[in-house]
Amino acid sequence: MTRAPALFVGHGSPMNAIEDTPSARGWADVAQRFPKPRAIVCISAHWVTEGVRVMSNARPRTIHDFGGFPRELFEVQYPAPGDPALAQRIVELLQPFGAQLDESWGLDHGAWSVLKHMYPEADVPIVQVSLDIRRPSTEHYALAQKLTTLRDDNVLIVGSGNIVHNLPAFFRAPSPEPPPWVAAFDNLIVSSVEGDHTAALNYKSLLDAAIAAPDWEHYMPVVYALGAQHPGETPYVFNRYYAPGISMTAFAYGLPQ
Ligand code: ZN
Repeated sequence: MTRAPALFVGHGSPMNAIEDTPSARGWADVAQRFPKPRAIVCISAHWVTEGVRVMSNARPRTIHDFGGFPRELFEVQYPAPGDPALAQRIVELLQPFGAQLDESWGLDHGAWSVLKHMYPEADVPIVQVSLDIRRPSTEHYALAQKLTTLRDDNVLIVGSGNIVHNLPAFFRAPSPEPPPWVAAFDNLIVSSVEGDHTAALNYKSLLDAAIAAPDWEHYMPVVYALGAQHPGETPYVFNRYYAPGISMTAFAYGLPQ
């Protein structure tokens, strides 16, 4: 049995897809630390729905869900296959949450900008699961716990968002130096990743949450990686890069020792 890890990645700017950045190198590196999974379940900040939706396309399209970037970025294709049988299994696992198959989606940039670096050959099937806007973090956590069992079939769980995500703070920053609340909030969440998850689930009550994590959809993929942890797994925390309003921090549970 090959048990795949549970991973959270801070994805940041879509330009990471085509630039040789420290974060992109971190994603490529972590993929070398465990056997290639047979499939990936990705929970991206960029697919928000009412109700839980599970992408069931056999050949998902590459979605360019952003504006104002160079043409080169719009020309990126990531032709990884889907996995309709896995999508069906996920719908069954998430039946208590009313999950439904969905053919309208594809791969958004929260998925492909990262996975392109991890698996450049696009040879690992991907199923995306949407973020249900109606649910609190505790329910997202419970939903992720249901997905944990897939890891035992060598299915990698990937949450893709950002622990700190405040775009106005990024664009209006007076200097490239990140303000102190970026690292402070990031550190609080990493402490929870390394121990008790309660603080990460109740993140809105943490100091600086209103300024560090105003965008719930970028934060919530963290909760999916937390929920998919097996008891006793030690996290590997990496990509601790900060910009004004952004942390690129990533972590994995269940890497081979
Ligand atoms: Zn994003």
